[in-house]
Amino acid sequence: MAKRSLEQRLKDGTVVAGEGYLFELERRGYLQAGTFVPEVALENPDALKQTYRDFMNAGSDVVLAFTYNAHREKMRIIGKEEVLEPLNRQAIRLAKEVAKEHPTEEALVAGNISNTNIFDPEDRESVEKVRGMFAEMIGWCKEEGVDYVNGETFYYHEEAVVALEEIQKHGLPAVITMGLMGENILRDGYTVEESCRLLSEKGALVVGMNCFRGPDTMQPYLEKIRGEVDGYVAGLPVPYRTTEEHPTFFNLPDGGCSCHLPTETTFPTSLDPLYHNRYEIAAWAKEAKELGINYIGLCCGASPAMLREVAEAAGEEAVNSKYSPDMEKHFLFGKDDSLNQKNLNYRGKA
Ligand SMILES: [Zn+2]
Repeated sequence: MAKRSLEQRLKDGTVVAGEGYLFELERRGYLQAGTFVPEVALENPDALKQTYRDFMNAGSDVVLAFTYNAHREKMRIIGKEEVLEPLNRQAIRLAKEVAKEHPTEEALVAGNISNTNIFDPEDRESVEKVRGMFAEMIGWCKEEGVDYVNGETFYYHEEAVVALEEIQKHGLPAVITMGLMGENILRDGYTVEESCRLLSEKGALVVGMNCFRGPDTMQPYLEKIRGEVDGYVAGLPVPYRTTEEHPTFFNLPDGGCSCHLPTETTFPTSLDPLYHNRYEIAAWAKEAKELGINYIGLCCGASPAMLREVAEAAGEEAVNSKYSPDMEKHFLFGKDDSLNQKNLNYRGKA
């Protein structure tokens, strides 16, 4: 099948997008929690390629270049500004190589820019600095030939606007997703639905939310966004059991923790007991699709098996759907005639 554009795929149905490389590569041992810089593209390219591949085979229609945090400011903090450009280019090249491996339809490749953490809408100098950081990264995206750019996890509306403007200057389609902190409002006072409406009216192909929040505390805002926005809407929560009291994964307590954590919070390295199971995630994805969310995925903490549930809940078959769970031939819980029937009596005692 010839490769369709993002816009065409959105017209045809739901687009599934796998994110969360930061946590996944940290878990696999190739990235440091805390600084969270994606040097893996240069230091362990095979590990990054395999992770790209795992998410694509689990149902992602897009390989998102892992350049989250790979901006000039972060590189300055770790004293490695000289690797900024090679890192960005390499992350995109590896994504393109993997996208071509897709057996039925070549995956889309998206460039990625994100929250800079130095944006201050009151300070012209900081705004221009952020604009320059985005411009150089999008320039490399354009030269390397991405299909679109995903600007993500912005907690300032105005920062997202700068990102969108720079993407548009390069003539690329934009997916812009906001990260909503626990204040339930963006830091410059915009509601997330107002922000998304303005970004959509300004020409972003897709607008919505990603990261910080689990399905339970993101969904009410996705509903508001869907009500405000005429265009395509995205939802990519983290797969954790966030609550109204603790709406983001930054301050999620673990009542069962029996040791002293080396970090102030369970974020980012002790969130494991707070995971949703894959079926809860699938139930959310189904609900999101029914609500009219067009671009569905997961962010930090997602595993390929979880993403596959999202893809299947959205009605898609993943490359690796052949490995989706089937307990029919399990020695204790199966029902197949070929099983040793004696074992089935021990189910409750196992
Ligand atoms: Zn995330």
